[in-house]
Amino acid sequence: MQISFSRLDDTIARFVLRGATPAFANTLRRTMIGEVPTLAIDDVFIYDNNSALFDEIVAHRLGLVPLRTDLDEYVMRDTCSCGGEGCSGCTAIYTLSVEGPKMVYSSDLIPQDPQAAPVVDNIPLVKLEKEQKVVLEARAVLGKGISHAKWQPTLACGYKEYPIITVDKKCDGCAMCVDECPRGVLEVVKDSVRVVEGKLEDCSLCRLCERICKSEGTWDEPAIHITQDATRFIFVVESDGSLSVKEIVERALREIRSKSESLVDVLSDISGGNGNDEI
Ligand code: SF4
Ligand code: SF4
Ligand SMILES: [Zn+2]
Repeated sequence: MQISFSRLDDTIARFVLRGATPAFANTLRRTMIGEVPTLAIDDVFIYDNNSALFDEIVAHRLGLVPLRTDLDEYVMRDTCSCGGEGCSGCTAIYTLSVEGPKMVYSSDLIPQDPQAAPVVDNIPLVKLEKEQKVVLEARAVLGKGISHAKWQPTLACGYKEYPIITVDKKCDGCAMCVDECPRGVLEVVKDSVRVVEGKLEDCSLCRLCERICKSEGTWDEPAIHITQDATRFIFVVESDGSLSVKEIVERALREIRSKSESLVDVLSDISGGNGNDEI
């Protein structure tokens, strides 16, 4: 298997995975969404809240604020040496104390650990009128998206099979498919259609080009054919900023490897020490 990146910055990655199966591509997608841990607020102690929002809604909104996460600093609470009671190794603490009139933003959450601050400052939490106030303490822990969406490190995370576009000799270059293509993938050169250089990966596999060619042409089958390569996948992954997108991909791949190795160990135990035996 090979991975080649065409874009990789802190929040967005676009890459092609080669030599994989649809099952592995889907496993990677699901692992990035659901198995890479991030910090999210899980406990809120509300000391004062006479705003228009119930305590539960304020707590819910706090839970959805993305928090910068250093996975070398924090461990899951259930594996922490504190035995799950909560300590600086598994819990990040925030305070918030605001009086109206004012819109309360994520920037009003004051973290004890500056490395675990909210990713962005301008997420509105609650609007306070005159003489309204909110005073609370919030605690964030590591969790996984498989338990709750607030722990998902990704905003968008998906893939498509790699497009293959072929054109028959019968193409007369009428350009109807060029006008129909919503992604600007096709062009006519010397009385025949072809893929614009560098645009193949933009094809959404919608097949509108095939459909217009077949319906407007004089033949039974279209002159252009759209198929997919089931061993190559184009991924787009967007992070919510809690982790870098590179870390999300790496952690997901390590998680898949670790689970596979555990499975091999289990199989070895079942088959009497040889993981390659049939069971
Ligand atoms: S619509 Fe068909 S015939 Fe016309 S340019 Fe496209 S592929 Fe060729
Ligand atoms: S399948 Fe859709 S996006 Fe791809 S070339 Fe045809 S019309 Fe364009
Ligand atoms: Zn702890």
